[in-house]
Amino acid sequence: MKIIMLGAPGAGKGTQAKMIAEKFAIPHISTGDIFRANIKNGTELGMEAKKYMDQGLLVPDELTVKILLDRVAQKDCTDGYVLDGFPRTIPQAQVLDKALTELGDHIDYAINVDVPDENIINRMSGRRACVTCGATYHIEHIPPQKEGICDKCNAELILRDDDKPETVKNRLDVYHKQTQPLIEFYSEKEVLRTVDGTQDMQNVFAAIVEILK
Ligand code: ADP
Ligand code: AMP
Repeated sequence: MKIIMLGAPGAGKGTQAKMIAEKFAIPHISTGDIFRANIKNGTELGMEAKKYMDQGLLVPDELTVKILLDRVAQKDCTDGYVLDGFPRTIPQAQVLDKALTELGDHIDYAINVDVPDENIINRMSGRRACVTCGATYHIEHIPPQKEGICDKCNAELILRDDDKPETVKNRLDVYHKQTQPLIEFYSEKEVLRTVDGTQDMQNVFAAIVEILK
């Protein structure tokens, strides 16, 4: 099963994608996580991506598409995957569509996690991410057992640089201009399903499982 997660930054795509990946035993592929791992390792790609990420802008399609196509060509993706944060532009969606069509394949579902802008600022300013394993929490809604410490690996939790309020506004503007048109793109392909992302995490997941089963 090949699934795309759509939604504003902070809507809960990553949270749900990890749960879907576990339940359906498919890889969770986050282009944001791939870029952050490259930044941490000081690669050339990481340094280039950081310039855009720090401003709340999208990393150019040329860089992003190649990384994603290489990743989905790996062996563990044969039975499907859940994409989180890709595609984010119409050209990215078109490249993915073309690559899949050439393989006689297609996306099964594009799940739109719908959360209004008013809730997004709270979601992102309260998000805390593990520096080591990438697990995410929310200081009010999904707190770790010990403040500032990851439940899974005991490492430190941090506020992402691009979750600071001055960057969040840019990211939302970019979402509305460049990413939201994908809702129409996948609706025309009849694979779009929308869930109410303002519910608690377990209820959002139950709604998604209902769609996927
Ligand atoms: P995205 O991947 O769409 O950017 P995340 O999955 O990282 O978003 O979620 C953003 C923040 O909101 C995180 O702090 C996460 O713990 C929290 N969160 C996710 N889902 C919910 C939910 N249903 N209710 C409340 N908070 C949530
Ligand atoms: P995320 O972790 O999905 O919130 O992504 C964090 C940042 O990484 C985004 O704000 C972009 O700068 C960059 N990024 C992640 N995925 C993409 C993509 N598909 N296209 C362009 N930029 C991306």
